[in-house]
Amino acid sequence: MTRSVLVTGGNRGIGLAVARRLAGDGDRVAVTFRSGPPPAGLFGVRCDVTDPGQVDRAFKEVEAEQGAVEVLVANAGITRDRLLAVMAEDDFAAVLDTNLGGAYRVAKRAVRPMMSARRGRVVLISSVSALLGTAGQANYAASKAGLIGFGRSLARELAPRNITVNVVAAGLIDTDMTASLPEARLAAMTEAVPLGRVGTPAEVATVVAFLAGPDAGYITGAVVPVDGGLGMGH
Ligand code: NDP
Repeated sequence: MTRSVLVTGGNRGIGLAVARRLAGDGDRVAVTFRSGPPPAGLFGVRCDVTDPGQVDRAFKEVEAEQGAVEVLVANAGITRDRLLAVMAEDDFAAVLDTNLGGAYRVAKRAVRPMMSARRGRVVLISSVSALLGTAGQANYAASKAGLIGFGRSLARELAPRNITVNVVAAGLIDTDMTASLPEARLAAMTEAVPLGRVGTPAEVATVVAFLAGPDAGYITGAVVPVDGGLGMGH
């Protein structure tokens, strides 16, 4: 089955792994990127998800190239870790606007054609931080917890149109985002993971591919952990 897929933030890290996985499975996959060259072998559209005009333009380019988006993976995200006492307005606002506002903008733009087609898949990339909370990440955890309420509301709204909406709560995954953590903090976080290691982007991609695929037709509104057991019980 060849579907039209869009992965935001698909030029590196988890997004790139998801894009490559779905392209490998036979889908037509577009990715958004903000700067630099688009990844080789994938259709790249320049898009900052904080800008509704850029989101609309990106969707138009994708629609012209490969048809209306049938699978949306809202993956673009940032961190601006600070303890609350020193967290600036902009640290909070930028993280919320990118991680939660970005998902709102791309999902809103994607769902109309999905509703007309009476099928579609939306996967939102959240984090174990949404469930556990993380010191120094109140902004990030709030944005990722917001994705769960957002996604579950969409799941209810869109279920009558045969569109599923699911959330992947990723744990500690080996990307630029985790590489930017201080070494001691990364080591302490890894120690807290029951499986005792960081995960790979491919391990997240395989779960996204399942949720986006035909075998997951009866799963919606789920929060699926890919975290080595870190968030167990939440
Ligand atoms: P990276 O930092 O490696 O990649 C982030 C991606 O998001 C990049 O492609 C980046 O684009 C894109 N992005 C950031 N801001 C914007 C924006 N305003 N508009 C468009 N694209 C944007 O992170 P990861 O691959 O690790 O993270 C991917 C997702 O997974 C994020 O939502 C993150 O919160 C989540 N996650 C990651 C975990 C981890 O341990 N790594 C754990 C749990 C969740 P550009 O290259 O242009 O900056």
